[in-house]
Amino acid sequence: MKTIENAYGGKTVASRSDRASTVYNPATGEATARLPLSTADEVNAAVAAAKTVAESWGTTPPMKRVAPMFRFKELLQKNADDIARAISAEHGKTHPDALGELQRGIEVVDFACGIPHLLKGEYSRNIGPEIDSWSDRQPLGVVAGITPFNFPAMVPMWMFPVAVACGNTFVLKPSERDPSAPMLIWKLFQEAGFPDGVLNVMHGDKTAVDALLDHPDVRAVSFVGSTPIAEYVYTRGAAAGKRVQALGGAKNHMIVMPDADMDKAVDALMGAGYGSAGERCMAISVAVPVGQRTADQLIEALAPRVRALKVAPSTDPDSEMGPLVTAEAKRRISDLIAQGEKEGAKLVVDGRGLVLQGFENGYFLGGTLFDDVTPDMTIYREEIFGPVLSVVRTESYDEAANLVNSHEYANGTAIFTRDGDTARTFADRIEVGMVGINVPIPVPVAYHSFGGWKRSLFGDHAVYGPEGVRFYTRLKTVTARWPTGIRSGAEFNFTGRN
Ligand code: NAD
Repeated sequence: MKTIENAYGGKTVASRSDRASTVYNPATGEATARLPLSTADEVNAAVAAAKTVAESWGTTPPMKRVAPMFRFKELLQKNADDIARAISAEHGKTHPDALGELQRGIEVVDFACGIPHLLKGEYSRNIGPEIDSWSDRQPLGVVAGITPFNFPAMVPMWMFPVAVACGNTFVLKPSERDPSAPMLIWKLFQEAGFPDGVLNVMHGDKTAVDALLDHPDVRAVSFVGSTPIAEYVYTRGAAAGKRVQALGGAKNHMIVMPDADMDKAVDALMGAGYGSAGERCMAISVAVPVGQRTADQLIEALAPRVRALKVAPSTDPDSEMGPLVTAEAKRRISDLIAQGEKEGAKLVVDGRGLVLQGFENGYFLGGTLFDDVTPDMTIYREEIFGPVLSVVRTESYDEAANLVNSHEYANGTAIFTRDGDTARTFADRIEVGMVGINVPIPVPVAYHSFGGWKRSLFGDHAVYGPEGVRFYTRLKTVTARWPTGIRSGAEFNFTGRN
């Protein structure tokens, strides 16, 4: 069994921590790696390595900073299959899905390559007599990122390419569940020619996170994970005077209007509800048909498709959905399904009890579908983060929209309709950060920014895109007056005194 190392100051360093966690292959249940959980002293050493190079990196011209970024992009593309395999081996998602997540990360690298343009600032001439003013955005110094298991490549790449291009140095604390993809990415980052210490990867748990949150040299923290931890990171980081953007959990609703293209709505729900075994913060976990007829049609079309889902390990090219990430996740979600039944929801398709031949110890759970779910039920209130779709029946658009607006989470939402007025009203009034119209998973492209509202995001800034640039830089505005100088006082003739 391999032991995963940390990476800081340009090299991999074996942790001396006496605490460790285990990395599993979720398709087989086999332990594949030992992951030492870094001590606070080790995290401090990584921050020191990042700080050593922060000033020279921050004053390197932006054009020079992005030269290795172009090479990094090429290396990521060249090694995409290896990275995707590392993701699937520890997360469980299918190979095409892993390639897809990497591609979304590469798009942020693409965006970061344009940083010289984005850091140009603004200039105003003659704001007063002989006075000019300009503003520009300067790096913060050392910044940190703490990331979840569900996108071990993409979520770190939502953060560090932008941070680093802006002139910061970065300490990444990836998820303990799937640390190998971030390590491969770090290796390619070094190979691309970035100076040592610009990107550092420290593995660990709460101890490592707290060390980053409390460290006076860490100026900003980006976090993506579950809401209770997001809130904790935000509160502790902000109390220590840092900038914090902390993205949390979700319960994304998709409203299906009676005039929707039902085939497209069902396709969308299958992909958005069950893709990546529902372990996506933008997964649709609640379908909200408007009208009993729409609901009946939806259930009738969905049920056979959910039963027919091809659940298989990522090594099977026909797999549509892999296992859950851990045995604990499988247990927790199975318990929630039982709770849903107990509280009176109608279990239309039950994914429990699925056993795959040859993979009996894997953490597989079949697609699950509930009808007649009501807002007071646990399966409606809580984020399940698994292949479980709940159908909540409503009688009108207003009832459906109120449902969405009343939930504590507000990451993403979608509506399926053919009516422009309904779609426009929805986009205008719905209180959610990312909205799809006939698009089930409206993840913003790299040159926009990603972020939910309410308890799905703590802090002010969304990640990547223009908001990412604002988050990782601070604004400086200079006002300059040059009194009459050499131009009028200079003597152009020889005076003969010399
Ligand atoms: P998690 O909150 O358990 O872990 C996220 C990170 O926090 C990990 O690096 C982990 O080591 C660290 N952590 C865990 N417990 C901690 C503690 N007590 N103190 C300090 N740090 C701690 O989340 P997860 O299970 O890895 O990921 C799934 C969650 O992430 C879901 O809730 C999902 O919705 C959310 N998520 C949100 C977004 C988004 O953009 N809003 C994107 C992806 C995932």
